[in-house]
Amino acid sequence: MKKKLGLLYGGKSAEHKVSMQTAMAVIKALDTNKFDIYPIYISEKGEWIKGPQLTGPVENVDQLAFANMEEIQSTALSSSLFEASENNNFDVIFPLLHGPNGEDGTVQGLLELLNLPYVGNGVLASSAGMDKVIMKNIFEVAGLKQVKYTSFIRKDWQNNKEKAYQKVEQELGFPCFVKPANLGSSVGISKCTNQEELESAFVEAFQFDRKVIVEEGVIAREIEVAVLGNDDPQVSVAGEIVAKKDFYDYKAKYEDGNTALIIPAEVSEGEYNLIKKEAIKAFKALDCSGLVRADFFLTKEGNVFINEVNTMPGFTPFSMFPLLWQESGLEYSALIERLVDLALERHAEKQ
Ligand code: ADP
Ligand code: MG
Ligand code: MG
Repeated sequence: MKKKLGLLYGGKSAEHKVSMQTAMAVIKALDTNKFDIYPIYISEKGEWIKGPQLTGPVENVDQLAFANMEEIQSTALSSSLFEASENNNFDVIFPLLHGPNGEDGTVQGLLELLNLPYVGNGVLASSAGMDKVIMKNIFEVAGLKQVKYTSFIRKDWQNNKEKAYQKVEQELGFPCFVKPANLGSSVGISKCTNQEELESAFVEAFQFDRKVIVEEGVIAREIEVAVLGNDDPQVSVAGEIVAKKDFYDYKAKYEDGNTALIIPAEVSEGEYNLIKKEAIKAFKALDCSGLVRADFFLTKEGNVFINEVNTMPGFTPFSMFPLLWQESGLEYSALIERLVDLALERHAEKQ
């Protein structure tokens, strides 16, 4: 029996385009003998779009680009998916969405209510992983090593900016990194080396969120591993990001194309084992399921600090997560099938 797979893609976030590219790659990679694929598009405005796509499986990847936008009607969010699930009885949904409104537990909550199995992390892990302050608080309790951090709410900062800057200087010093708490893709992140930069970094970060996190800056290599599984997660080989910039910012991630991914990363066995252990600890601390990419800083002295986990990491065939699994012996299409199996396994265990 073929599985009916609903592919949710696009989304109301800065990572809309990345999601589109990934959806195309996933559709091309899936074995049509095993899957019927039903694409469900979420526009940049957050409209859920139903078109011919919801009445039958996709035949051509060009359908995803929506050449004939006029024919497409938008509908209320939940009714669109609800109708789709009524018509098609999906076996599984793949929420290929990054950032807020997709990777943050909101869509996962909707899928829970519809009782549909879905790929990846549940509500709790998704939302905790999206909020860098909550994520780090949980890591702290789990005993993971990380850089010093502090956080601010917009109103408190507005009421006493000097106090906020003083706190940063006293507790963290320079350089430091200022980030919106709930975002990804380096959007709104600045590196600051003095108070002047700190002030504009706060203004910038608060444009994206009412909560901001500030972290001590480290000089370190950026090493990432991919984790796959449910209760017994497996860890891939390690990869390294080498950004030819001051830091791995949005442009370096998506526009320049000159950021190098080194796979496998040149790390010692001891360093790798430590990173692996910390990745599993992080996965379990957030109660993750399916997948995460765990990102670390590795200092010259051999210290390993967790930076973050991404609960729906970049997933094009050229992204770190699939490349790490490829190097570990799992090809792109087999990886997607494994994720579907893990989704079904978790769903069955909940019942
Ligand atoms: P995002 O979720 O947007 O990817 P990150 O927290 O990973 O945000 O930050 C983006 C990039 O900024 C990192 O990949 C790294 O290059 C740099 N960076 C972030 N925090 C620090 C830090 N504390 N010290 C040094 N570099 C940092
Ligand atoms: Mg992130
Ligand atoms: Mg990151």
